[in-house]
Amino acid sequence: MDSPQAPEPATVHTIDFGALSRNLAGTLYEPGAPVYDDLATPWNLAVQTSPAAVVEAANAADVVECVKFAAANSLPVAVQATGHGIASNLDGALLIHTRLLDACTLNSDSNTAQIGAGVTWATVLAQGADLGLIGLCGSAPGVGVAGYTSGGGIGPMVRSFGAASDKVRSFDVVTGDGELRHATAQSEPDLFWGLRGGKGSLGIITGMEFELLELPVIYAGALFFDTAHVENVLRIWAQWCPTLPHTATTSVAMMQLPPMPGVPEPLAGRFTIAVRYVFVGTADDGATWLAPMRSAGVLLMDAVGPMPSSMIGLVHSDPEDSMPAAERSTLLADFPREAVETLLEAAGPDSSSPQLMVEIRQLGGVLPQLPETPSALCHREAGFGLHSVAVGPPPELPAFGAHAEAMIQNMAPWAYGGSLANFATGNGAGAFAESYTPSVLAKLSTLARHFDPENVFRLGQVPAR
Ligand SMILES: Cc1cc2nc3c(=O)[nH]c(=O)nc-3n(C[C@H](O)[C@H](O)[C@H](O)COP(=O)(O)OP(=O)(O)OC[C@H]3O[C@@H](n4cnc5c(N)ncnc54)[C@H](O)[C@@H]3O)c2cc1C
Repeated sequence: MDSPQAPEPATVHTIDFGALSRNLAGTLYEPGAPVYDDLATPWNLAVQTSPAAVVEAANAADVVECVKFAAANSLPVAVQATGHGIASNLDGALLIHTRLLDACTLNSDSNTAQIGAGVTWATVLAQGADLGLIGLCGSAPGVGVAGYTSGGGIGPMVRSFGAASDKVRSFDVVTGDGELRHATAQSEPDLFWGLRGGKGSLGIITGMEFELLELPVIYAGALFFDTAHVENVLRIWAQWCPTLPHTATTSVAMMQLPPMPGVPEPLAGRFTIAVRYVFVGTADDGATWLAPMRSAGVLLMDAVGPMPSSMIGLVHSDPEDSMPAAERSTLLADFPREAVETLLEAAGPDSSSPQLMVEIRQLGGVLPQLPETPSALCHREAGFGLHSVAVGPPPELPAFGAHAEAMIQNMAPWAYGGSLANFATGNGAGAFAESYTPSVLAKLSTLARHFDPENVFRLGQVPAR
């Protein structure tokens, strides 16, 4: 990212990190320390990161110290909770790791959660289980709440309840000028707007409060079909989606899962398709709406039924372990019959596709309804999200990525334009700009100049300003 007003970076080896370290309650690690590698390694092992130093922040004051130190030494600042959304190699950056900011309190009187920036959805789900409360988590419980929510947060119940960022009440955030601020719709309306969708471009969230839903049980899970049925299931799914009420959220995934621990035996080593489904309502109604998909082919596994909402991670069963991966993503306006056939040509069972998974998530439902308090989240009106993941040895990943890009290019006639910030990670430098409309991007850039005058967050997602 260009940064015209940023001073020339100092040479990293001339920086005395001891001066910062002495002011921290947490710990600073430089390259060579074993904990440095642990903290700096992202979920996608194909991205080799090389921050100048990593600070395991113990509190918000540590984050303030880091941001001020970085500004004084012309270092970029980056933030990591779980590493699920690594977007650059963090070269020469001061990386703030938030895993120690792990306080998580759920309040069943106000139906809210108060969390530190290092908390993952798994913790919120586990605590909510006893109270019958759930937040609008994503498909993978291992993802960090702050990173996910700051990117909008489009989860497996998105058609029923919208984006997670619409449920935020407040953020505690350290802006690029080193100020710790409490941002609400009233107290810091512009910052509050930008933190809900703009990712880490304006500040580092240290804590946040958001609303929970009273929803102890959902009718949810996945149907799995074998290779011979993949094409037909995808065709039927595409016709079925427009008939669904907003109480149902669904996605479909063509998968080639290797035989390995954690992969159910019937799915291992073959080309399958999964229809994921979350219905908010009675089990009878959920089953009635799902019936056309249950009869779409011979089922390998039927794992849909009533379940505690805290088990929602089972719907996608995303991989938990780190791996080298090439991800690509785009948004579709529509997914008609011709689009289905085009996708099958590129990624169907007869395509020799190298993708581990090609997933289409139906959007719509209540997502396009704008929240009372506007936010920076864009592209709410898109019809579907298309996302691919290939896994393999790093030297092979560029070819797998190129295959995905060609697939996305073939889908151009049905493109919505752009992608969602949370899914744009693998799309390459500059792709985050496509997550925003020009006017939202311009406003984010203006706010970034105000809240981050030294441009310490120049590795973040808001492009050149
Ligand atoms: C398996 C998998 C499943 C996913 N499923 C979904 C899904 O269903 N829906 C969805 O919307 N997204 C999904 N994502 C994307 C995910 O939400 C983003 O990658 C998110 O940024 C991850 O946040 P993290 O903190 O876990 O990751 P990190 O890599 O630690 O952080 C990624 C980015 O988040 C921002 N960020 C993190 N912490 C802070 C902070 N304290 N303050 C400010 N910014 C911060 C920064 O921009 C940072 O670079 C998924 C990703 C994976 C790998």
